[in-house]
Amino acid sequence: MTAKCPMCGKTAKWEGNVFRPFCSERCKLLDLEGWFSERYRIPKAEEDESDETARENGPPASDQEKT
Ligand SMILES: [Zn+2]
Repeated sequence: MTAKCPMCGKTAKWEGNVFRPFCSERCKLLDLEGWFSERYRIPKAEEDESDETARENGPPASDQEKT
């Protein structure tokens, strides 16, 4: 039995393949990497947005230094 690798589209053996549904460790890691960067991109984008808003209202980094 073979399966198509969702990362590179290559046909890979399914039986005994520890990296399935990917064809190799490389494709598995590539997918994980993309998945993680996708998750981290969301909070990062929000941070950038609030940062820009804070800059408009006053001097930069003032909000975090004040206690
Ligand atoms: Zn692959």
